[in-house]
Order: sequence, then structure tokens, then C-alpha cells
Amino acid sequence: MPRKILVTSALPYANGSIHLGHLVEYIQTDIWVRFQKMRGNECHYVCADDTHGTPIMLRAEKEGVTPEQLIARVWQEHFDDFSAFHVNFDNYGSTNSAETKAFAQGIYRTLKAEHLIDVRSIEQYYDPVKNMFLPDRFIKGECPKCHAKDQYGDNCEVCGAAYAPTDLIEPFSAVSGAKPELRNSDHYFFKLSAESCQAFLRQWTRGGSLQAEAANKMQEWLGAEGENKLTDWDISRDAPYFGFEIPDAPGKYFYVWLDAPVGYMGSFKQLCDKQGLNFDEYWKQGSEAELYHFIGKDILYFHALFWPAMLQHAGFRTPTKLFAHGFLTVNGEKMSKSRGTFITARSYVDHIKNTEYLRYYYAAKLNGTMEDIDLNLEDFVAKVNSDLIGKYINIASRCAGFISKKFDSKLGDTDAAASAEFKAAFDSNEIARCYEERDYARALREIMRLADVANQYIAEKAPWTMAKQEGKEQELHQVCSTALTLFRDLSLYLKPVLPELAAQVESFLNIEPIAWSGAWQALPAGHTINTYQHLATRLDPKLIEAMVAANQESLKNMTESHSEQRHAEHQQNVIEPIAETINIDDFGKIDLRVARIVNAEHVVGADKLIQLTLDIGEEKTRNVFAGIKSAYDPEKLKGRMTVMVANLAPRKMKFGLSEGMVLAASGSEPGLYILSPDDGAQPGMRIK
Ligand SMILES: [Zn+2]
Repeated sequence: MPRKILVTSALPYANGSIHLGHLVEYIQTDIWVRFQKMRGNECHYVCADDTHGTPIMLRAEKEGVTPEQLIARVWQEHFDDFSAFHVNFDNYGSTNSAETKAFAQGIYRTLKAEHLIDVRSIEQYYDPVKNMFLPDRFIKGECPKCHAKDQYGDNCEVCGAAYAPTDLIEPFSAVSGAKPELRNSDHYFFKLSAESCQAFLRQWTRGGSLQAEAANKMQEWLGAEGENKLTDWDISRDAPYFGFEIPDAPGKYFYVWLDAPVGYMGSFKQLCDKQGLNFDEYWKQGSEAELYHFIGKDILYFHALFWPAMLQHAGFRTPTKLFAHGFLTVNGEKMSKSRGTFITARSYVDHIKNTEYLRYYYAAKLNGTMEDIDLNLEDFVAKVNSDLIGKYINIASRCAGFISKKFDSKLGDTDAAASAEFKAAFDSNEIARCYEERDYARALREIMRLADVANQYIAEKAPWTMAKQEGKEQELHQVCSTALTLFRDLSLYLKPVLPELAAQVESFLNIEPIAWSGAWQALPAGHTINTYQHLATRLDPKLIEAMVAANQESLKNMTESHSEQRHAEHQQNVIEPIAETINIDDFGKIDLRVARIVNAEHVVGADKLIQLTLDIGEEKTRNVFAGIKSAYDPEKLKGRMTVMVANLAPRKMKFGLSEGMVLAASGSEPGLYILSPDDGAQPGMRIK
């Protein structure tokens, strides 16, 4: 019996372009879905643009269009980007749809009838310049836990703490820069703290729906038995807002939690209407169909707690499994606009063109865990050229020519003994298991092992030598036919990852679309193939360089013309507002001196501190404890020149007396940078 499977990827927000970080998830999901379809399962893949909220409203306003016009344009861009990377949704919808609205309102009404909706007056930050309540992501300030600067109002990107915007220290509006005011407003809450939710989630999060590492995290979030750590979730926002109005609550709108994931259902409903599928068969409580959500680890809390609790109490089924993945780094670091590694899908297509290279590389890195994956651009070129071109494509390019030139494009008998050996050396069930478990890295290692065996066979038989020898025609025919059968099998196993290339292979070999069940069946003798044409070319590292350079270039343009607009995006480029004006006398009170770091050491028992011994030209050195351990290795600091505040009152700390402070810069992204004077500056020189 084929399995009935519904698969989703997280909904991209309609306020920005798809970039290579997003694509990890969509490529991961698409490979899995293609694999399921090849196995003969009934598998549906749906997704949608997440279209509601204040950022969309503000951006549309700025561009002088309606939110509907904005989201229609972005939908098309997203859809084109996904198509370019062969991400093949069965339906790609929008959360701004009649279907999603109906489900969101229905779920809300049921939860209300179950007494799981609460209305409370809450104090919320209000931007007195923009005349609107500020969403969490539009308030920034200092993290109340680790004191990192410039953190969003909902969670800290440095220490991972989650909190309310009112917990932030020195908050400011990221829209206008104004200091926000606290005002009261009625908000609607989903009572996640209710006994029935807690009890259900304790059982559900241990029921095998989560990866082990995610399940552990959930136990931490849920707390010990009897402990109630879950809080109620705010599901409403005040007008002005772009979204769905809450039934019987004028001026109140559903916040993202209640309409975005419901977009999974809305999009699937559209597919059902198009294809005559039964929606309830997949979504009603007790459904026997399988439901999988592919998500980033950043939205785990929401998908593993709020979403199942909401579905359970609204009469729907809960997900079979959540598949969370890690983030993408490029060259070992967070994607960066200034380094040119914040690469959009469009920019990749414009420069590299072949999107299957990236699919292959991501697949070679993905192993089904929540670990981050790294796109090392040099390794990317090397891997594509050595594996895909050097091992796989090479098999066809070395053997196909003989078949067309010497044998009128007709295949001969295959080498039965060699074929039996290949089959014995290779476990296709193992490949299937790896795909099923999303361990694509392992699947590709196995497939490349088969490619190695095939190449070794060709090298030993040396068809190019046989072709010059008398009386070797039959053997030549057999070797090339065997190699092309192996090439067909390799193409089969690679097809979920390289669908476009597989289609070209099918056309070259003149065969029906390859199905999983067709492995190891020799192509019949006498079968005519088409003339071999280049299936793929080597990846030129110059294309990568050009892409990175172009991204750096586009950053410059953006900084000049759209810096204001970028504030509204979910980027982290909002600088801290400039402090209150002071006069020169105020500044003169601060005595800044050039200091040489004579010694630097770790402090036993301190997580953040380094103990510095500073020479500022006085008789005695100064002892300073600096909170820079996260960014610096003490060994590398020794001998460096820096800047210190020399007249700061000494402070008695747990570890000793701190006699001043060194200066360091920090921004919205993690990272600390101590200052250095220009060459020639001497210890003790005053900075003014
Ligand atoms: Zn923090």
C-alpha cells in the first residue's frame, strides 16, 4: 500500500528575497518529497508565502503600493526562485487566502468554545512618532540576561534567551528610533499554560515526533513534572495591521502564530480543490496519513509546543514528525553582506546558472540532524568538479561515443559477471534508508562509492585501447553497455537530488522516467540511445568570485539608496541610536589613554573575563578585567596596543580590583572589537 504523505516547508516571509540560507530547507524537503514519489508513495508538498504583519504594511506604505500588490509581486519572485532551484511544490499558496482565513477563524472559534482563549489588557510599547503599537521585532535594546546590545524584543541572538519586549534595557523603536511609550490595549491569548495543554504536550513531545536533540530541548522548556513553565501566547495585534480580523473583535487582528502555520492547511485545501483530494483524510483527528513539517531549528519552540497544542484542541491531527535542520554558514561564518556571502537565490542563478550543483552540495552536507551546515565556496567547486563531473558524468562521456560511432547507437549485451559483482557490492536498500532518514550525506557517499567502482571497471577494461585493437569489438560493446547501465543506476539514485540532470540522462539513454524499482535491470541489447551531448560542465571558480563580488557591490548600492528601507526588513543592521548630546567639557572629563597590553590571562571561574595588565606609561601597570573572552584569545592580545579609560573609578570585583576599562565596539551581530591606535602611538598618550 502506498503511504499517504503530506509535507510542508516553513513559509517564507513576503518581505525579503530568498537566499542561500533559506534554500537549505527547501532543497532538503524537495529531495525527500521526490524520493517518496519515486518510491511510489502518494506524497504532496505544499507551502505558501507568509504575507501578514506590520513589516509588510510598512514596506507597502513606503513603496506607495497596497499590501496586496506588494505580496503579489513578492510571491512571483519567491515562486520563480524556488522553480529555478527545482523545488517542486504541488501547491504554492499565500496566507492571504480565503482558505487560510476560514481555517484560522474556525480554529479560533473552537479554541474559544474550549475556554482556551483569554482576553487581557496588556501594556505594550507604542511608537509615539509612527502612532502604532510596535511588534516585538521592531523594538530593540539590551538583552536583560547577557546584556548584549541591540537585541530584538522577543529573544536574544547572543545568549538565546526568550523574553518580553518590556524586559529589554533601554528600548528604542526600530521604525522611527523614538523611545517607545508603554500603553494599554486588550490582547487575545491562547492559553498554552492550561492544564490540558501541558498534559498533552508532555506526552506528545516524548512520543517520537521530535528528533532526540529537539525532544530534550522541549523537556527543558516544559520543565519538570508538576512545574508549569509554559506561558500563554499572545495571538492578537491592534490596527493598523495587515491581516485577518479576529471574529467579533473589531480592530483586533490575528498575529502570525494563528495565521501563518494555518497557511499549511490553506495551501493544502487549494491542492485538494484542484486535484479532488480529501482534506479531512489528511487533517482530521485520527487521520492515518502522515504529516511532516520541515523547519529551521529557530522555529522549533513554536512548531513543537504551540502548533500541536492548538491543532489538538481544535479537532485536527498533530504532525507525525517535525524535521528541524540547522543554519547555513558560508566559509565557516554567518552569512555576511559585507563579505559578499549573503547570496540571494537570484544572484546565484545569474552567476552560476546550474542550480543542481548547489542541490548536490547541500545534499552532501545534510545528515538529518540540527547541526549547522557550511557552504565552503572552495570546497563547493572542488566537490562538484571531482564528484559530479569527475566521477559521475565521466562514465557516460567516456563510453557513449563508442556506442554511437562503432555500434550504430545500439547497446549490446552487458557483462553479467561484472554486473553481479556491482550489485553484490552495493546495497540499494541502504540508499533508500538514508534518503528516508534524511541522511543524504551518507546516501551520496554510497552512490559515489558505486561511481568509483564503475570508474575502476572502465579503467581496467580501457575501452579506448580496445577500440584500436582488432577482434575486440564485442568486448568493447559489452564494456560500454555495462558502463552505461551502471550510469543509468547512478542517475536513478541521484535523481531526487538532480532531477533535471536525470531527465537529460533519460533523454540521452532514450528511456522512460527511471523509477526506484528499475534498478539493476540491464538496458536491453539492441536498445538505441541518443548521441551523447555534454550533460554538465565543470564549475569555474571565477563564477563564484564574480558572484561574491557582485553581492558586495549590491550592498554598496543598497547602503546608499535603501538604508532606511533595510531597517524595516528582518535584518540586523539597525544601529543603536546616537546618545544624548554633550558638550566638550563633558567629553573632557573622560581621560582616554593609549595602553600596551603587557599581559593577558584567563580568569579562573569567569565565563566572560580576561585579566589584562596594561602599561599606560605610569610607574605601575594597571590591572583591568575586560569582558572580551568571547572574542579574544589572551595569547594573541599580548603586546597589542589599545585604548583605555584611565580615570574610571576602580571597581572591586569578585576576582580583584579593576583599575579602568578598555574600549571595544559591538553591533547588532555577535562580535566584539577592541580598539587599536595607529602605528607610532605610545603608551600613556592621551586621546582627545
Ligand atoms: Zn542575551
